[in-house]
Amino acid sequence: MLRRTWMVALLLLVVASPPAHAAQDPWTWPLDDHAIGERFDPPATRYGPGHRGVDLSATAGDPVRAVAAGHVVFAGQVGGTGVVTIDHGRERSTYEPVKARVKAGDAVRAGQVIGTLLGSPSHCSGACLHLGRLAGEDYLDPLELLGGGRFRLIDPAGEPPAPPAGVGGQGLQRPVGGPITSPYGMRVHPVTGVRKLHDGTDFGVPCGTPVHAAAAGTVVGRSYSSAYGKRIVIRHQPGFETTYNHLTSQSVSVGDRVRAGQVVGRSGNTGLSTGCHLHFMVLKSGHPVNPQEFL
Ligand SMILES: [Zn+2]
Ligand SMILES: [Zn+2]
Repeated sequence: MLRRTWMVALLLLVVASPPAHAAQDPWTWPLDDHAIGERFDPPATRYGPGHRGVDLSATAGDPVRAVAAGHVVFAGQVGGTGVVTIDHGRERSTYEPVKARVKAGDAVRAGQVIGTLLGSPSHCSGACLHLGRLAGEDYLDPLELLGGGRFRLIDPAGEPPAPPAGVGGQGLQRPVGGPITSPYGMRVHPVTGVRKLHDGTDFGVPCGTPVHAAAAGTVVGRSYSSAYGKRIVIRHQPGFETTYNHLTSQSVSVGDRVRAGQVVGRSGNTGLSTGCHLHFMVLKSGHPVNPQEFL
């Protein structure tokens, strides 16, 4: 009899629990590195225009992780897009475009890899994960639950963010997303006409493009010179530095600690330069080496 009373009390507690998403546990980020692209823009009507989730920019092939513990309720194709949906009890999370590594019915832990990010179809300028949050039929803002953790804001119309550190195998990430317009090596200098070493890698990007730190480190140089223009130097380890040259603006100061991917300035055309681009250098014991060996 006592046990039954307890059961009823417990049942009442469950029924009386706060409605919908009021007390939802926080989510963990579904990607190891993430840059927030287009944000949640709830539709005014059920089928109206809007953005029913948040876009997290990433690289195709990145592992996608469950944001919380739950059960997979769907893993398959919806209109040609790979989609995974996980039921967390009161709410569900959806992930797309994803090549699923789980199947309907699977139990998943928070942070468990549920698949890999597909490059297409994508409604972002580059690859991105569209993360949705559903309570019944209502779409909610996933960012409300993704409070903590590291993230950076990007311009959804701008350059795609540099891939996460370590992707290139040598621990440096590309500082900007543009094409390589002039590699490291001997060449005839476009301004001076002298044949000499081109001591870095040029990325063709418009002036004003955010330039990201290639790895975590400490800013040891912020200077202007007639050759390199506005320049930032970051030390990652003793005797291992990267430099960012011809900048329009520098947004970090000597002594600053920077994270991999942090914006350190904006690309430009200052110093000895024939047009907007980023001249990116890697210095080993003070001597330039080929950056592409580390990207
Ligand atoms: Zn989206
Ligand atoms: Zn250059």
